Amino acid sequence: MISLGCPKNRVDSEIMLGVLERQGHSIVSDVAEADTVIVNTCGFIDEAKEESIDAILEVVEGKGRTGKRLLVAGCMVNREGAELAREIPEIDGFVSLDQITEVGRIVELGSGEAPLPAPSHATFDHTEPRLLTTGGYGYLKVAEGCDNPCTFCAIPLWRGRFRSRSVESLVEEARRLEEAGVLELCLVAQDTTRYGEDIGLGRHGLVQLVEALLAGTRIPWIRFLYAYPTTLDSELLRLMGTEARFVSYIDMPLQHSHTEMLRSMKRGGTAKKYLELLERARRYAPDVFLRSTFIVGFPGETRAHFDHLLEFVRESRFDHLGGFVYSPQVGTPSADLVGRIPRQTAKRRYEELLEAQRPIALESRQRLLGRRLEVLVEGACEETEHLLQGRHHGMAPDIDGRLLINDGTTEVPALCEVEITEAYADDLVGRIVEDGTRGLEGESATVREAVTAAPQPLTE
Ligand code: SF4
Repeated sequence: MISLGCPKNRVDSEIMLGVLERQGHSIVSDVAEADTVIVNTCGFIDEAKEESIDAILEVVEGKGRTGKRLLVAGCMVNREGAELAREIPEIDGFVSLDQITEVGRIVELGSGEAPLPAPSHATFDHTEPRLLTTGGYGYLKVAEGCDNPCTFCAIPLWRGRFRSRSVESLVEEARRLEEAGVLELCLVAQDTTRYGEDIGLGRHGLVQLVEALLAGTRIPWIRFLYAYPTTLDSELLRLMGTEARFVSYIDMPLQHSHTEMLRSMKRGGTAKKYLELLERARRYAPDVFLRSTFIVGFPGETRAHFDHLLEFVRESRFDHLGGFVYSPQVGTPSADLVGRIPRQTAKRRYEELLEAQRPIALESRQRLLGRRLEVLVEGACEETEHLLQGRHHGMAPDIDGRLLINDGTTEVPALCEVEITEAYADDLVGRIVEDGTRGLEGESATVREAVTAAPQPLTE
């Protein structure tokens, strides 16, 4: 399984692996050893599509005459499966977003038709088997689809209407993740802060869900990702400020700050309202870490609009910031807008945006020097086994840099007390001052001999 794209896709990959394992297939970690390779694609922006196509072509190249089967799954299948079938005839079959639990049949058949472009309708629940691939943390997908009208985004065209899962099903799945050793639960959806609206939970659906997860599990860290600014609820901020296990962290993609751009993107709110919201978050949860993402080069973005964004970024002082260069997506309203920005200009603005954020990120990390923080130690550092790697509560998996540990030992995964000794714009360095007090029984690791937790089945 080559899983690309966002954590929502990752969950789909884990369900497919769970289904395959339950049906008696063995999962191997080396593509060369596999009889069947599944590439789970992402189609959000051009770069994501290119990465997916590169991954497919790499498998095609390795296929040669080995008889290896290549299946393609995920967003690109629902969106442009027929084109993929035409352009890359070496693809043996397709798994659409609604066929995830049928993957066993498709693997056994060794082929499958590309579906016509269509939005997904399915929702998967706790009864599906799932093979956890993330070690000390696990994603909990609380809803599928999206009803927002953002003019640059094609996701609703294939992920379909917003549909929440029930609180009971999510608590049950969280319990299984806990039994499998998860110390951190990350709630994800396209639009997480709207959770529950469509199933009658009203405006505070996410609050109710988090409260149920806190009561129904003992998982030490619960976080949510992808807040939408107009549905981020003060009650949720209040809960964050009072409940230690609901970690103080908000990832809220704002996309832009200038009112004209926000209107053209059909995003709710204004820079003033966003700043008030950030101020409220910091007031309710003083140790909150904030992350946002912005689009540069949206059609019609003038230098003045972009300068407004730079000023907004300097004023809001996000701890973590990401951005991407706008690319028009077929079927979205913004693809027809006039005022296209040359790609070179957009790329320069992207670099400028990241440059503006650098001193802010460095300052945010330097504030932690000398502090002792609870850190989820996850295993050996990717580049060298001589260092351990972990995250404090203000760092979400995969996106917010790394906390490297160059002194101390612990079991992994484990929550340890770590003193921060060095701070850089991307990474932190620290030393373990108290070993994994909240860790689980597991393999012992020193700085020299760290191991990452092996994937664990999440079946009944
Ligand atoms: S909130 Fe907007 S950007 Fe996010 S998935 Fe929905 S439509 Fe796309």
